[in-house]
Amino acid sequence: MALEQQLLATFDEVFTRCPTVVSEAPGRVNLIGEHTDYNEGFVLPLAIDRTVTVAAAPANGKAVRVYSGDFDARDEWRADAPRRTGRREWRDYVRGVAWALLDAGYELRGGDLAITGGVPLGAGLSSSAALELAVAGAFCALAELDVDGQKLALLCQKAENQFVGVQCGIMDQLAAACSRAGNALLIDCRSLELEYVPLPPEIAVVVVDSKVQRELGETAYNERQEECAAAARTLGVKSLRDAAERDTLRLPEPLDGRARHVIGENARVLAAADAMRRGDGAPLGQLMYESHASLRDDFEVSTPELDLLVKLASGTDGVIGARLTGAGFGGCTVNLLMAGAEERFESEVVERYRQETGLAAEMLVCKPADGLTVRNV
Ligand code: ADP
Ligand code: MG
Repeated sequence: MALEQQLLATFDEVFTRCPTVVSEAPGRVNLIGEHTDYNEGFVLPLAIDRTVTVAAAPANGKAVRVYSGDFDARDEWRADAPRRTGRREWRDYVRGVAWALLDAGYELRGGDLAITGGVPLGAGLSSSAALELAVAGAFCALAELDVDGQKLALLCQKAENQFVGVQCGIMDQLAAACSRAGNALLIDCRSLELEYVPLPPEIAVVVVDSKVQRELGETAYNERQEECAAAARTLGVKSLRDAAERDTLRLPEPLDGRARHVIGENARVLAAADAMRRGDGAPLGQLMYESHASLRDDFEVSTPELDLLVKLASGTDGVIGARLTGAGFGGCTVNLLMAGAEERFESEVVERYRQETGLAAEMLVCKPADGLTVRNV
């Protein structure tokens, strides 16, 4: 709320008028189901209580003026003609969302937008999808468009894939658009069917940013995507969603390991959702450790630092489970704790990690939060 008051003041200062709407979308953390989305499999993310917020007011003409509080920078373009900057920067995400809405046949109005963010950038908590959905919510409100969350998510993914030029699955945008407080979101990435699965209330979600930059991340991500596609082609299936464990025996290295991970991970997501539906948190831990081992050994996207964070967590009382989350090659781990164990976790995992690596890891205690909300102010 303090962040929002500040944003309203900033808007007033930059545009010398008052905003009429506030649109807010959360970052997300994926509990389990890594590198399964682009294989038409299952994922189980939850929205976190950190958001990107956009304050906006309509204009009479087509002029769009945008201010980013975090970059202290402006942008200006026409609502019927957003173009790439060619620099793949924050402006492209905003323009890209407008482009995707126009491309889908919606008519946009001009307006003023001020943006501020509480999702750490580039840490793997999907600040980009939070930004896209918050901006989409604002453009829709300004033009009085009624677009459902799933459709908005698809348009934002298209903006990121085709306009910004970053390959990503649909998980981040769906989580930012459709999540509900207290719940994780089971997504079938083939049918896009959603199911809300409550997180047992005695469980706390803790994210640790390893502070290892995902430098090789993009190249390696594309490489893994291609390997999965190649494995599916070799097996004669549409995607690895349709392959079975025994099929992996027919694959050469390293495709066998890649496929083994995806097939096992899909089964783990469904088992985790099952346990949560029963209100039973206990099996989640084992599934998370198995997921981490599979990402480390078969999918080969972990780093020594992420492995260390998971090892320290697994030896700490009150920790249910831990694994790397996001694409890997750095970024964050997600940890489930018995509520009340947060302090012990901080000293036995985060502090020790800092001592051993010299990296200033950061810990975020997260609550499962709502997806996109748009309200008049
Ligand atoms: P992640 O989604 O994991 O946080 P990405 O590299 O996909 O990392 O997206 C980060 C990019 O999204 C930033 O470089 C910036 O362009 C944009 N972005 C995210 N949050 C904000 C914000 N609050 N204000 C402006 N741009 C933002
Ligand atoms: Mg992103």
